[in-house]
Amino acid sequence: MSQLRFHALKEVFRREPIEVKIPQRLSRLYNENVFSDETMKEYLTPSAYKYIVAAKEKGEQIPREITDQVASAMKEWAISKGATHYTHWFQPLTGSTAEKHDAFFSTVEGGFAIEQFNGSLLAQQEPDASSFPNGGIRNTFEARGYTAWDPTSAAFVIDTTLCIPSVFISYTGDTLDYKTPLLRALQSVDEAATEVARYFDRNVNKVQSTLGWEQEYFLVDSSLFNSRPDLQLTGRTLLGHSPAKGQQLEDHYFGSIPLRVLRFMQELEIECMKLGIPIKTRHNEVAPNQFECAPIFEEANQAVDHNSLLMDLMGRIAKKHNFKVLFHEKPFKGVNGSGKHNNWSLSTDTGENLLSPGKNPKKNLQFLTFFINTIKAVHDYGDILRSTIASASNDHRLGANEAPPAIISIFIGSQLSAVLDELEKVTKGRLSPDEKTDLKLNIVGKIPEILLDNTDRNRTSPFAFTGNKFEFRAVGSSANCAEAMMVINTIVAHQLKLFKSEVEKLIQKGFSKDEAIFNVLRDYIKTSRNILFEGDGYSPEWEKEAAKRKLKNLKSTPEALKIELEPKFVSLFVENGVLSQVEIEARNEIKLEKYSTLIDIEAQVLVDLARNHIIPTAVNYQNKLIENVRGLKEIFSAEEFKSLAQEQIDLIKMISGKIAGIKVSVDRTISEMKKCQKILDTHKKAEAYSEKVKPYFDVIRADVDELEMLVDDEIWPLTKYRELLFSR
Ligand code: ADP
Ligand code: MG
Repeated sequence: MSQLRFHALKEVFRREPIEVKIPQRLSRLYNENVFSDETMKEYLTPSAYKYIVAAKEKGEQIPREITDQVASAMKEWAISKGATHYTHWFQPLTGSTAEKHDAFFSTVEGGFAIEQFNGSLLAQQEPDASSFPNGGIRNTFEARGYTAWDPTSAAFVIDTTLCIPSVFISYTGDTLDYKTPLLRALQSVDEAATEVARYFDRNVNKVQSTLGWEQEYFLVDSSLFNSRPDLQLTGRTLLGHSPAKGQQLEDHYFGSIPLRVLRFMQELEIECMKLGIPIKTRHNEVAPNQFECAPIFEEANQAVDHNSLLMDLMGRIAKKHNFKVLFHEKPFKGVNGSGKHNNWSLSTDTGENLLSPGKNPKKNLQFLTFFINTIKAVHDYGDILRSTIASASNDHRLGANEAPPAIISIFIGSQLSAVLDELEKVTKGRLSPDEKTDLKLNIVGKIPEILLDNTDRNRTSPFAFTGNKFEFRAVGSSANCAEAMMVINTIVAHQLKLFKSEVEKLIQKGFSKDEAIFNVLRDYIKTSRNILFEGDGYSPEWEKEAAKRKLKNLKSTPEALKIELEPKFVSLFVENGVLSQVEIEARNEIKLEKYSTLIDIEAQVLVDLARNHIIPTAVNYQNKLIENVRGLKEIFSAEEFKSLAQEQIDLIKMISGKIAGIKVSVDRTISEMKKCQKILDTHKKAEAYSEKVKPYFDVIRADVDELEMLVDDEIWPLTKYRELLFSR
């Protein structure tokens, strides 16, 4: 056995669970290390606190002297939590979080030092931004970017650092992060949805988007992880034969959580509590060593920050427990992949969930309004939802018969389908008194009782209505949810504005408000039919049916990313003040570059593994067999030899065939890679990687995985699937 594999396995068998001190009540730790509303009330004057609330709720500017007061309060609080440093914590387009720590420490005259932090340091910082991706924005415009405090997300202390959630912007005002466009989209949906919600309740002054994510992940022992160069460098296994005991048994799902893993989860939950991440559920997932955690939903911006923070935290805590967390969407072939369901809704400052059916016809009409407008938004702009979740790693999942397909459709369940059918039958134009009564009592009035026994669930839909929220399931496990949230909220904001203008037009024509709403909704149902699908989203029949409906099936990232530059989608973001044309192009460029880089790295790792690990091992084994055959020939008669050695001779032939096959594919991969590296146009480059390089991955893998079955287990160089997935 290779040294690395042998030592890794030896380590795993010696592992013991790391004990964790469990507090008596987890809830007591909640927000312990967060500069929360409660803490702010304690540390700030009532008037300063009011400014924070106004900034959070209405996006109002915080005056300079108040920022100073907040900074000083934040510093005092952070020091009481053991903080010595502060940092603007932000989410650049690299996909992780970034921070640059500065000490509170500052020298003053007379050889003394004090802890210092003021309003301008809180409000703005200048990280060295040259190493973050900018898609050409900074090269063309301005060489630097700055981070600015986002008062809508709470500051927190990790270890000895005060982390201040921030946006990241270039000096020209172009956004360089995930958060800024999200905040703009949230503002847009707030404005549009508030206007529409006021048709039903004049007391509504604000609408928040809510997000409850479900994070799936794999855990692999860190020694085993380190024994696999492909996992280390690409986050997924590029090689490896499926184990005999795969997912077939499905005994892992909701089975008991292994003790070592449980300890990791317990520590994670404790740390989440302290940081205000309201983690609620934990369980095993479908695949071996796959797990999920989910919080109680929160306001979308806060929830996005909490998800980024969680991913960060998971990595660190896993290390203590000798695990490595895999966020990759498809770390193991033939084993279920990981996603991040984004449960999304809208809620008012009067405490109503706008996607929840209510107790009376009025509330239900409100529900139907937001429900149908969302369907219409996804119908009109579904392609951009698809492109927003496109990445090299998520390509392995979408459409691979286990995850939602790359085709965007909506599942709403049979009962709500029936309601839409009834609504569609409503007469166009003015309604008779009888019709009005019928609508109120028999259609709109019946929704709550119907939904109560709405038990049909469809797990194969990428965008499903689940009782009081929509669940966008196609988001990848490694993605930042900000992008999906930015797109959903933008398309819904856009749609709600359209809805309002159409309703107003009818009202001006003399329609009553309800009549106008019914008329517009009825038209929307008619025009949005195509996007509704209740059947099996994984089936080949759906692909055919979707093609007939002219729904796009964008299977690769380069294909999906083309969509972002279509005029229809560019104007969507520009009109709603979410992204400028320059920002859209820059972001598109960054994603394409990232795609090409990832495929290039995977190709290099694969070539290295094949040439330097697999082929030499196969040749060694082959030589051993050849020697053995020679020996047999020496001691046996020709006739005896023939029958005794045949099997080994066949094996030698098979191994030779595989070695030759791998060599040819590796050479071709290298030559295609070299061609790709020379392409300057980012889109053409990504396409070439997708079409010319990536196909060889499967070809090489097929040969190597067969070799794995032929070569003596003792000398196989790579830790096997069985060992990665079942050793704990
Ligand atoms: P599942 O069956 O998919 O596990 P759950 O009912 O357990 O669904 O909820 C999953 C997620 O949905 C949780 O994270 C929860 O917080 C979130 N959720 C519930 N209501 C809302 C809402 N109104 N807005 C956003 N997310 C929500
Ligand atoms: Mg779910």
